[in-house]
Amino acid sequence: MSSLQTMSVNHHLTDETIQEYSAGALSVPMETLIACHLTVCAHCRARVERADQIGGFMISASDGVEVSASAADLLQRAKAAGSESSTRSTGPRGDSGNLISGVPRPLGRLLPKPINQLAWKRIAPGIKQFNLDVDTNRKGAFKLLHLTPGATLSDHSHEDRELTYVVRGSYHDEIGHFKTGDIADLDGHHSHKPVIDSKEPCIALIATHSPVRYSGILSRLMQPFVGI
Ligand SMILES: [Zn+2]
Repeated sequence: MSSLQTMSVNHHLTDETIQEYSAGALSVPMETLIACHLTVCAHCRARVERADQIGGFMISASDGVEVSASAADLLQRAKAAGSESSTRSTGPRGDSGNLISGVPRPLGRLLPKPINQLAWKRIAPGIKQFNLDVDTNRKGAFKLLHLTPGATLSDHSHEDRELTYVVRGSYHDEIGHFKTGDIADLDGHHSHKPVIDSKEPCIALIATHSPVRYSGILSRLMQPFVGI
């Protein structure tokens, strides 16, 4: 077992995100980011599996069988029926084959080079990015951020969901302390200002549905240029 699989993870996906992931309702960037977290988090893997079982059973149940049952009943019946939904291709199940150059395979397969050799683009002091979005017409973002120790991101919020997966290092904000393997699953109501507190650079994978909204005037002016 590698250290990635044995790490302790403190911040997880919300129930809502788990349900939408299981239903296939999220964008490819968000699915990819979630798959990275599932690589290191047995807790969320089990939650996705339960959601898959309930969802799969409800689809088959809607084909004529009565569905006036509680979620717990459905889960029990789904287990009894031996759901095959646990073989999701984007949901790694935690073996050592799930790492590429030390990062979760769903991310590693997208990178043209090992993560420490990427052509990072400097966007602000202490902040570099590597864009992963191939669809330039999409409203949201999908990128890696490389943040030097002590760097602070501007206070910002979102119209919609923002997912952050911590690939290396750590940061803290108003919500808590996030380190390698953790996921920050924020909806549009959260505003936060992350500060890098690891000795090594922090590398974070970000996926959003909508553009980021900065609250400071300078940040708002800069936003069209830095695009984060
Ligand atoms: Zn988790």
